[in-house]
Amino acid sequence: MKQWISLQTEVGNFQHRRAIYIFALKMSFTAVIMSLAIMIVMLPVLQWFDLLPLPILEVMRFGVLLAWIVGGTVSGALAILAGSSMHKLAVSRAEFERLSRTDGLSGLLNRRAFTEALNEADHGASLVIFDVDRFKTINDRFGHASGDAVIIAVAQLFRDVFADNDVIGRLGGEEFGAIIHGGETADRISRIEEIKDQIANHAIAIDGGSVKITISAGIADMSRERKAEGVYAAADKALYLAKTLGRNRVVHERERLSQIWRRCAVEQDEEAPAEFMELQRYALRM
Ligand code: GH3
Ligand code: MG
Ligand code: MG
Repeated sequence: MKQWISLQTEVGNFQHRRAIYIFALKMSFTAVIMSLAIMIVMLPVLQWFDLLPLPILEVMRFGVLLAWIVGGTVSGALAILAGSSMHKLAVSRAEFERLSRTDGLSGLLNRRAFTEALNEADHGASLVIFDVDRFKTINDRFGHASGDAVIIAVAQLFRDVFADNDVIGRLGGEEFGAIIHGGETADRISRIEEIKDQIANHAIAIDGGSVKITISAGIADMSRERKAEGVYAAADKALYLAKTLGRNRVVHERERLSQIWRRCAVEQDEEAPAEFMELQRYALRM
């Protein structure tokens, strides 16, 4: 019984008002059934001691009536009061949980919630880490509030371009993470390339004007054999390479430098220059 009541009173069940009435109904029924059971046990005892003022069947009829009208109504009303308090508690707990998982500035998942999502992500997903290029200069030139406006605008753009089953979070400062699904590696790279270009072409409104920014991204793939930390480290390394190669770039962890060069040098057939190769060697050693 105790276990049953504690199951019914689990605060999480009370987020919807309907749960209060179901709870009240169950409690009234339980109260009535229990009082009837007590009456069935007690009446023969009272009769044996000759303590009943009326014949047992009369008393029983009266008892059943009282159990339903008084017991049922009183316990139902009390359960509605208790249920309403639990409903308020459940709603505020849900709101607290939502806030504890949300980044206050961008409204995206915060780092903790994003890391949880990464730990639970499908083996076929990819992790993308984005970082706004030269963001510090925006803060320095236009002020911190403008920097915040840029973060909010980038977050909104991500919300618009990513699919519902993708997960987006703000990892801190001007760094964002996305867990993406669908397509081959090449498709995912071109999807992120498109987003990167969209950001570069989008004028962001800031106090007294607008500003254009670029973003760099590193991509790494999840797999059954790999832990989330390993995938994160690989995406971070790829992001580092994207920054080192001049920013406004997307780099996948397994791309060869010549591939990145070809993609970035837009239809040029040139070989990657020696300093490019040197950069990759340097970045991959990190
Ligand atoms: P890079 O291209 O190498 O990424 O250069 P960067 O200037 O973007 O990188 P850096 O990490 O040096 O600068 C990030 C800056 O972001 C430093 C920090 O003051 C600022 N920052 C961190 N959090 C916030 C925030 O919530 N709002 C604003 N406006 N600025 C922030
Ligand atoms: Mg940056
Ligand atoms: Mg950064």
